[in-house]
Amino acid sequence: MEVMSEERNTSDVQKRDAQLEEVARRAGVRAERGRRFAELTSLRVGGAIDWLFVPETEEQAAAVVGALEETGIAWRVLGAGSNVLADDREHRYVVVSTREVKGKAEFDGERVSVSAGFSLPRLCVEAARQGLSGIEGLGGIPGTVGGALWMNAGAYGHEIGQVVETVRVAREGKIVEVPGGEVKWDYRHTSFKEGELLLGCTLRLKRDDPEKIKGRMEEAKQKRFATQPHGARSAGCFFKNPPGSGLSTGKMIDEMGMKGEKRGGAVVSPVHANFIVTEGEDARASDAYALAEEIRERFRREHGVELEYEVELWGADGEFKDEGGRTKDEGDTDEK
Ligand SMILES: Cc1cc2nc3c(=O)[nH]c(=O)nc-3n(C[C@H](O)[C@H](O)[C@H](O)COP(=O)(O)OP(=O)(O)OC[C@H]3O[C@@H](n4cnc5c(N)ncnc54)[C@H](O)[C@@H]3O)c2cc1C
Repeated sequence: MEVMSEERNTSDVQKRDAQLEEVARRAGVRAERGRRFAELTSLRVGGAIDWLFVPETEEQAAAVVGALEETGIAWRVLGAGSNVLADDREHRYVVVSTREVKGKAEFDGERVSVSAGFSLPRLCVEAARQGLSGIEGLGGIPGTVGGALWMNAGAYGHEIGQVVETVRVAREGKIVEVPGGEVKWDYRHTSFKEGELLLGCTLRLKRDDPEKIKGRMEEAKQKRFATQPHGARSAGCFFKNPPGSGLSTGKMIDEMGMKGEKRGGAVVSPVHANFIVTEGEDARASDAYALAEEIRERFRREHGVELEYEVELWGADGEFKDEGGRTKDEGDTDEK
């Protein structure tokens, strides 16, 4: 993310605020102040958001980020917030929420076109009802279609990238259609660039018996229920599996005896060791981060492997820091 420098004085802040009001007004987009990541992410932690823009259509979303780019004001896109850990400080960039960019899923033969803010679980249910197969394994992944596209969400043998025919992307205020074949769909990673807003997509699925599809979806749901905490405040798996190893990070953290380990309001889930869950009103993003770094440190010592985050860490000024403004490397020193 492009990091915005601290405003120098009140008049700079006022100028920027007036500019943002104008950008939102011209694009016809709702702007909200005073929201917090703790309300907008599934981990229920994280600091204040300076400006939240809430477009309702793909056109509005494309126009508003186009205008933000022209002003040079930094922005980030947030879907349902089920894969984001934002630090506890005040985030002074614009958060563009896609949650209202949902419209309807438009089915046409084996194709379905859907906007970025549409719920992925709901899309899976609707596709099954239409007798369309290819995403039933994704039915239990919380979040939006846009979030799933961004990181090539997947489970139980299905990844969204496998069925994408085209993706609609915002470029210079316009909607551009990119063929799915031009995108690199890797394990929880794609070739979309930081700062690209995905507006929607067309998926190409395959005909099958709706009852069979529903059966497979139910099977995936049962597996999930048996192995993952439900109703807990989490972001799913915190770390990726070590690439190309066939090893399970969750199993390895479990074998390190870390289930139930706590830091403040963050706990390694007793159900699934690759899930960090938050508990209580006082839980902080810095608790989850401290626990995650402890896991990485022990993993490095015991397995010689550097765990890569699957969850996205959002720092108020680019780098994730604790409330005192320290990175992990600055440890407990008082330096800021
Ligand atoms: C209980 C639980 C279980 C989970 N299980 C799985 C699983 O099995 N498999 C799996 O892959 N994931 C899993 N996840 C993680 C998460 O649900 C997925 O990553 C999901 O696709 C994120 O979607 P979101 O809308 O919440 O994205 P967010 O968390 O809001 O955003 C995630 C990232 O995507 C970017 N992004 C979001 N929308 C857009 C957009 N329109 N354009 C550009 N960038 C965008 C954001 O900027 C951010 O970088 C799980 C999470 C939970 C809480």
